Amino acid sequence: MTEPIAIVGAGLSGNLLAILLAREGFAVTVYERNPAPGEAPRVAGRSINLALAARGIRALELADAFAAVRPLLLPMRGRIVHESDRTERFLAYGGQRDECIWSVSRHELNLKLLEFARERWRVDYRFEHSCIDLDVDRAVATLRSPAGERQIGPRLLLAADGAGSVIRRRLATAGRVAAREDLLDHGYRELTIPARADGAFALVPDGLHIWPRGGFMLIALPNLDRTFTATLFLPHEGRPGFDSVDSGNVAAFFAEHFSDALPLMPALAREYGDKPPGMLGTVRCEPWSHTADRGGGCVLLIGDAAHAIVPFHGQGMNAAFEDCASLARLVAELGPAWPEVAERFEAARRDNARAIAEMALENYDEMRDTVRDPAFERRAALSFELERRFPGRFIPRYSMVMFHPEIGYAEAQRRGRIQAGILDEATAAGDDAASLGLACTLVEQRLRL
Ligand code: FAD
Repeated sequence: MTEPIAIVGAGLSGNLLAILLAREGFAVTVYERNPAPGEAPRVAGRSINLALAARGIRALELADAFAAVRPLLLPMRGRIVHESDRTERFLAYGGQRDECIWSVSRHELNLKLLEFARERWRVDYRFEHSCIDLDVDRAVATLRSPAGERQIGPRLLLAADGAGSVIRRRLATAGRVAAREDLLDHGYRELTIPARADGAFALVPDGLHIWPRGGFMLIALPNLDRTFTATLFLPHEGRPGFDSVDSGNVAAFFAEHFSDALPLMPALAREYGDKPPGMLGTVRCEPWSHTADRGGGCVLLIGDAAHAIVPFHGQGMNAAFEDCASLARLVAELGPAWPEVAERFEAARRDNARAIAEMALENYDEMRDTVRDPAFERRAALSFELERRFPGRFIPRYSMVMFHPEIGYAEAQRRGRIQAGILDEATAAGDDAASLGLACTLVEQRLRL
């Protein structure tokens, strides 16, 4: 089988998908609007580093790419919460010793996958090729490159062109999909915490640092070069908001709210700059595919193009990687029966995408606010104890999402709701012993496998 497949977008989904489909024997070409990595300054705009978790790792393993990626990863075993009074607390992510998530550079991860696709699987990359239009009736995309414009109409066109997908927007304008882009009223700016003068990390490296301040927060993830990338999440408007905190007063703002972080960021004002903050949002689209009236070509949206989510559960890339693995398994089973593959793919992924979008929004409250409440820590401790007593039956929701790829997002959300009810009732029951006693009874009654 050497049927050609075109992928638009050499981002995280596009590159992993290219590997997985080339392994199935297809001739894959990837079209990317940016220049080849290394041939031009890095394009800023998305997060510099990300949290990789079990779902993403499982998909990388399916592509035999995990061994190549592993040296890029730094473990984060829990949240290190920085209170306003400068005290710190460590909150483990999981109840099991080996449960951690991994910080990875977006650029390095992308590059590694791209090299693997190109060198090991002979995937053909066309850089500086922007998809500027889609002829919906014929499923033919127009690409613009320095050499001019050309059209491509493969039997399968995969839109891995991210949250602002031109292809999705074109399908929506033509009435072939219904799409909503709900922007959050909060945005983000990225900043650097450099290594100390002696070359060491300026903060404990094996955790995700959070400075939760109710309506806003700062977080920091470690990098291999011993810097941290810090991300400030603020409302776009308000006090504080990106419209009121500028490079002239950002140091005073940090002195007030993040006084322990301020001395670690010598270039704060310059780096903060006055460029617009990054936008965050949720994309909801239905369906994710379209089969052309003329010619029968199939267009399928994948990753952020189909279902971008806010980053507060650290799952956008993980979900996108899970998409790629799910699609590859269907292709292995069904072959190039594209409309059927697309239909089965969407049936398998839709409820999961909706569930993680909702859980990601909920997690913003947890990260910037609830995590400060002593009741949060008490609930987490009770959850871990229940997990120890009822292995496989009670698994904290965060753990299901981050460490249990065998449990789909929708199922994690469903079980998580029942568990939240148990925790609510049990923690209201009195002291720790009374709470645990009631919680055990409720688990027996309500959680069946
Ligand atoms: P993208 O990575 O956006 O890739 C799209 C690619 O398509 C890009 O290369 C782009 O240049 C190209 N492209 C776009 N338009 C065109 C066009 N018209 N023609 C040709 N090429 C085009 N996820 C996690 O799992 N963990 C995290 O910790 C995490 N943190 C995040 C923090 C922030 C601040 C943000 C914004 C996101 C975060 N995410 C995280 C989400 C993650 O970044 C996305 O889910 C992931 O990048 C989706 O991959 P993708 O390939 O679908 O899209």
